[in-house]
Amino acid sequence: MQLKTILNRVERYKSFVYGEPRWADDASSTIEVPILARANGRPICSGCGKRRPGYDRLQPRRFEFVPLWQIAVVFVYALRRVNCPSCGVVVEQVPWSTGKGRLTTTYQWFLAGWARRLSWKEVATVFHTTWEHVRDSVRHAVRWGLVHRDLSGAQAIGVDEIQWRRGHHYLTLVYQIDAGCKRLLWIGRERTEASLRRGLELLGESFCSELRFVCSDLWRPYLKVLAELAGGAVHVLDRFHIMKQLGQAIDDVRAGEARRLKQDGYEPVLKHSRWCLLKRPENLTDKQTVKLDELLRYNLQSVRAYLHREEFQRFWQYQSPGWAGKFLDEWCARVMRSRLDPLKKVARSLRKHRPLLLNWFRAKGTISAGIIEGFNNKAKLTMRKSYGFREYETIELALYHQLGQLPQPEVTHKFC
Ligand SMILES: [Zn+2]
Repeated sequence: MQLKTILNRVERYKSFVYGEPRWADDASSTIEVPILARANGRPICSGCGKRRPGYDRLQPRRFEFVPLWQIAVVFVYALRRVNCPSCGVVVEQVPWSTGKGRLTTTYQWFLAGWARRLSWKEVATVFHTTWEHVRDSVRHAVRWGLVHRDLSGAQAIGVDEIQWRRGHHYLTLVYQIDAGCKRLLWIGRERTEASLRRGLELLGESFCSELRFVCSDLWRPYLKVLAELAGGAVHVLDRFHIMKQLGQAIDDVRAGEARRLKQDGYEPVLKHSRWCLLKRPENLTDKQTVKLDELLRYNLQSVRAYLHREEFQRFWQYQSPGWAGKFLDEWCARVMRSRLDPLKKVARSLRKHRPLLLNWFRAKGTISAGIIEGFNNKAKLTMRKSYGFREYETIELALYHQLGQLPQPEVTHKFC
C-alpha cells in the first residue's frame, strides 16, 4: 500500500491531489508530500472565499502534518495568488491550513487533543515540536469550539472564583451545572461586579433569562450582579463555599488560640493540629486521629469551633427547607452564644442570607452537591499542571480546553 493511498483515505481534498511522497533532502528523516492543484480548479480567494482567476505562484511552503511512526510528515505546496476584483491580489485559501502558521489544521487538532491528556510541555517533547506550537494549536481548538458551541437549554449555572498567581489575584469562572451538561462557560480576570457582568453579557440576555438556578458564594459583587442579570432564577448558596468559610473560621480561631497559649507559656497542644481540625474525620490519617483525640480532651476554643462545624454538616441532610431552616436558626443561636468571634461572623452572614441558603433545598435534585467543588479542584489541577504559565491568555486557554467540553469539527478520520 502506498502512502498516497493512506492519505487519500484519511485526508482528501477536493481540488488538490497528492504527489509522490519522498524523503526530504536534509538528513532529518522527514517525509515530504507534495500537493498539487488540479489543473482545472481555479484558486479560492482567501479574502472573500470565491473562486477567482490565478495571478502568480509563490515559493513552495512546508506545512507540518501528523507524524507517521515518529517520522515527521510535511506537505509541500506553492501557494497561488489570485487576482480578485474585490480583494485585489491576495493569496489563495487552502483546505489544510488557515494560512497563518506552519502547522496544518489536522496537526493542530492532533496536538490540541493530546494537550488535553498531557501537559503542553510533554506534548511538545513527545511530538518533537515547540511549546508555542502546542499553545497555538490549543488556541485554535478553543476559538473554534467557542464559536461553535451550543448554549441553548442551559438551566443552571454556578459562579466561582479561584486564586491566580500569588497575592490577591482572582479569576471569575462561570460553569454550567445542569445534570446533563456540566462545563466551563466563561473565564474572566478579577472577581468584581464588572468581570461577572462582562461574562453574563457575553453569554447573552436570552441565556440569562432562561436560567432556573444560579449558584454562588456570598461574595457581594456576585450576589448583586446575579440578582440584576439573572433575577428570574432561584439563587442558591453553594454548599462548598459555606463549608469553606466555616473551615476558615476554625482556622482563625485556632491561630488566635495558639498565639495566646504560647504567650501564656502552655504546652503547645495546638501544634500540628491544623489539619486535624480542618479535615473531615473520615479523611484523617492514623496519626492525625490520635492528635484529634488528644485535642478533644481539652476544652479548647478550637475544638468547640470544630464541633460546631461538624454539627453544621447535618444541615445539608435535611429534605425540606422548613426543617433545615429550623436547624439553621438553632445552630446560629448556639454559635452566637459561643464567644468564638470568627464563627459568629459566619453565623451572622448565614442568618442574613437565610432565604438564599434554604434555596439549596429547593434546588436539590437539580444541582448536585459537590459539583462546584469538583470544578474548583479540576481548575486548580489544570493550573498546577500548567505551572510556568504566566500569561493570562495561556491560563484561559488551558481552562477552556480542559473544562469547556468544546465541540470539534466532524472529520473523516480521527488522528487522536
Ligand atoms: Zn476576494
